[in-house]
Order: sequence, then C-alpha cells, then structure tokens
Amino acid sequence: MGRVVLRPGRGAPVLGGHPWLFSGAIQSVEGDPSDGDVVDVAAADGSFLARGLYNARSQIRVRCYARTAEPLDDDFFAARIRDAVRLRTGVLKLGDPAGACRLVFSEGDGISGLTVDRYGPYLAVQLTSLALAARRDPLVSALVAEVAPLGVMLRTEKGILEEERLELRDGPLEGTLPVEPIEIVDGGLRFSVDLRTGHKTGFYLDQRDNRLRAAAHAPGRTVADIFCYSGGFSIAAAAHGAERVTGVDSSAPALALAEHNAARNGVAERTRFVRGDAFGWLEAQARAGMRYGMVILDPPRFARTSRGVRSALRAYERLNGLALRVLEPDGILVTCSCSGRVSAEDFLAAVGRAAAAESRTVQVLERAGQAPDHPVSATCPESAYLKCLVCRVV
Ligand code: SAH
Repeated sequence: MGRVVLRPGRGAPVLGGHPWLFSGAIQSVEGDPSDGDVVDVAAADGSFLARGLYNARSQIRVRCYARTAEPLDDDFFAARIRDAVRLRTGVLKLGDPAGACRLVFSEGDGISGLTVDRYGPYLAVQLTSLALAARRDPLVSALVAEVAPLGVMLRTEKGILEEERLELRDGPLEGTLPVEPIEIVDGGLRFSVDLRTGHKTGFYLDQRDNRLRAAAHAPGRTVADIFCYSGGFSIAAAAHGAERVTGVDSSAPALALAEHNAARNGVAERTRFVRGDAFGWLEAQARAGMRYGMVILDPPRFARTSRGVRSALRAYERLNGLALRVLEPDGILVTCSCSGRVSAEDFLAAVGRAAAAESRTVQVLERAGQAPDHPVSATCPESAYLKCLVCRVV
C-alpha cells in the first residue's frame, strides 16, 4: 500500500480529523500509488495518522476516511452509507416516502466526495471525487440495498473536471427514471423536481427550514424572492399569507417550474415570476421607487475557491445594499450565502457594510444554516457552507 508522508509540523489537520489533505502538506509519496488507491498518511516521523484515497491530479491529494488502519473496502463505505441513512430515517424522521431529503452529505457523513439526494422513490447521486467515482458500482449497490429506489440518476457538478480531473456525464445508473419532472412534498408543500435537468440534483433541500423561517414573517407582506429557482421561498411565503410575491431568476426553465409549483399549491394568483438579472432587477425597482416588506436573497455560490472570497464578499455587499434600498421600514431581509469558503463572520460583516453604506439599521433576528440532513462535520468546518440571516431592517 502506498504511503504519503507529511512535512514536519503539517499533521495537525489530519490528526484533528479533517478529511482533506492538500498537496502543500506532503513531503513524499512512497510506493507509487495510482489515482483512486488506498494510501496511509504518516507524520514526518513516520507514525500513522490516517487512511484515505489518493488522487495525484487533485489539489486534495488524499481524502481521509479513517483514523485507524482498517480496510477502506466496499463494506467500509456501505457501513458509512447505512449510518447516513439511519440519521435521516431514525433521528431526523425524514423518511416520508413522498418527501425528499439529502441521504448522504459528503464530508458531513464521513464520505468526502459522495452526495445523494432522495426524491420520493428516486435517488440523485453526485460523485465529486475521482476515487469514489471509481467505486461507483459498489456505492450504488449499497444505496440500493438500503433504500430500494425505483431508479438512480447520476448528476455531475460543474467544475469537477478541473478540480478532480474527473469526467462524468449525467445519466441513469440503475432502474428506470421518469421522463417528466416528479412531485415531492417538502415543508408541507408540493414541488416539481426535474431529476434530469434541474439545478444541482433538482431541488435546494438545504433551505427547507429557512423557507419556513422566512414564511413566518410573510403574513401581510409583499415579498421579493430574488434567485427564486423553482419557487421554494416564494411558494412558502405565499402559502403562509404573503400578500403578493415576486420571484426573480435568470433561468427560464426554473421559472416555468416555479409557475407550475405555485399553481399546484394554489397560490398562483398571489405570485408572479420574472426573468431577469437579480442585480439589474433590484436596481430598476429601487429607481422606480418600488418597496417591499420582505426581500429574500439566495444567490448561487459566489466563491468557489479561497482566492474568490474577496470578490464574493464585494458581491454580497452590493447585492444586500440593493435589497436594503427596496425594503420598507420594518422590513424583513432574509439573506443567504452558500459559499463554503465565506465564513459566517465575513458574511455578516458584508451585510453590515451594506447597512452602513445605505444608512439602514439591520438587526439580525436569526442566524441559521443548512437543514439537518446536511449535517456539519465538527472536524471539517467547510461543511458548514450555508448561512442564512433573518433580519429586521429599520
Ligand atoms: N432560492 C432557491 C435556490 C436559488 S439557487 C430555492 O429556494 O430553491 C440560485 C439561483 O440563482 C438559480 O436558480 C440561478 O438560475 C439563479 N441565478 C444565478 N445568477 C443569477 C442572476 N445574476 N440573476 C438572477 N438569477 C440568477
């Protein structure tokens, strides 16, 4: 078995249970491992630290899975999958067959590189590490053994080719998959999910609880849901008593789904969906003197890498400043960031700079994160990627 020996003083993250070992921490690689092979990670003095999977073509040279020298075989990953499923069904009670949940959340479930969402009887699988992609068949078999889905769909994430030198194509892996979007129930509402062409794996399950947090403030307010995708926040707000909701997104297929979802939940009359650029739309609304009682901002990931953090923070500041301009006094701002590289503190500070620049008082009422079926690993802070601030704006 290959062995990866760290530079002196670089063992702390691995020792602390962090799953990512970056190339910069490595002194030498012994035994000529191939990409995807099991390797041991050793400290500079040779002592064993962890066992993981190797990829010479990724910045994350080793993904560590075990702190003991146990075999990282199919049974090992099947057991991790079983643990992950038990959290959703046994602990979180997300087993409703008509519902949807994240069944496996990569680092959050100790399976760095594997994400699985369940939409009713179907699974959508994302493989974001080359080594786990090479183990695709046994991983899918383990999932099938646990939840017996009607079909399993492979969805690929943008950027994975550059990050992992991993070439994958979307497509069915197992069973039969519906041609039409399917319907799931989330937060008591019905949503159409397109397993083939929807964003990510089809629906933003991580915002389940935040939609209800926002909706709690909706009664009687006019709402602007910026970056609305298939209408998750819009429909929750309308269903909980918003007077009017405008959803804005740049994607026409997303808006078509949103309109369908609004009708399906009986709130079509109080919602409208507009295609446009979020920044431009907010600017135009501000210029026209339009005001809203609640603005929801749920932009796509602005920072992919740590180098992108500064420009992401400027974009968050600008976006939140625009939202403040269209908020009525005593308005509610629900503002989110899904960039794992942007810390909660830095995100809050960006909102604070926007408040100061716009001379508005912003009071944070709730600081929330991702729904609990996206558990945060205590030893991998990057797994706490979603930030959601519910604020009162004076
Ligand atoms: N709030 C949604 C998820 C938003 S995901 C939910 O709860 O389901 C981010 C969305 O932003 C995507 O739908 C994408 O199409 C949209 N988007 C990306 N850039 C945009 C832009 N500049 N203006 C408007 N929408 C944009």
